[in-house]
Amino acid sequence: MDEMLCVKDLEVSYGAIHAIKGISFSVNQGEIVTLIGANGAGKTTTLHAISKLLKPSAGEITFCGNPISNMEPHQIIKLGLTQVPEGRRVFANLTVQQNLELGAFTRTDGADAIAADYEMVFERLPRLKERRRQLAGTLSGGEQQMLAIGRALMCSPKMLLLDEPSMGLSPLLVQEIFKIIHDVNQSGVTILLVEQNAKMALEIANRAYVLETGVIAMSGNASELAKDPKVKAAYLGGI
Ligand code: ATP
Repeated sequence: MDEMLCVKDLEVSYGAIHAIKGISFSVNQGEIVTLIGANGAGKTTTLHAISKLLKPSAGEITFCGNPISNMEPHQIIKLGLTQVPEGRRVFANLTVQQNLELGAFTRTDGADAIAADYEMVFERLPRLKERRRQLAGTLSGGEQQMLAIGRALMCSPKMLLLDEPSMGLSPLLVQEIFKIIHDVNQSGVTILLVEQNAKMALEIANRAYVLETGVIAMSGNASELAKDPKVKAAYLGGI
């Protein structure tokens, strides 16, 4: 299988706090890989180090064979790697349509390709189509999460980095968002998913890494990890 993202010996510190202590992992083309872990384990920090919102103190990151450790965030988006931020950071005072337009901002592949992607996003996320003239700040939490995913899809990504897409959503909406993530993956987009909802994440993912206070404690096939007694006790409520 082709390795798409490779993270090697990554370290990140916030001043004296050594948040990520030398982790290595990879994501192959076509996979959904999840990074699970408790509050403060370092999941978001890891994603920010990949998308270059944070500068790692050590380690190497390659995407599709390109070393990206020294690139700027917009250069990484151009290569096809896009982060969907935690907390649905959509532009509240812009409409749904304007938020999606911003997603396509860095593209240079022409108006026709961008127009086709609008249609694809509206087809996949019909609620956004109905609400395309509505201000993003007036959308429900679930709809804002859909918009954040839609905006990322407008970058024409090869791979999405998803940060806690289930956060703050009702169980029914979590199901809906995970179905969307599954469909996006089926359409050919590789996914790295950071989640506290380990149950859902392990159900949808091919492989998983368990992060504990800045180190990878376990890794493997997602369905096998879901059966592991230690994972069950620590992350699946003992069920
Ligand atoms: P959560 O699910 O709660 O968001 P997480 O696994 O994503 O947790 P991170 O947010 O990556 O964890 O945090 C990892 C560690 O780094 C924590 O100990 C946290 O307190 C610390 N940390 C995160 N951001 C900062 C910051 N801006 N300044 C100082 N320490 C930080």
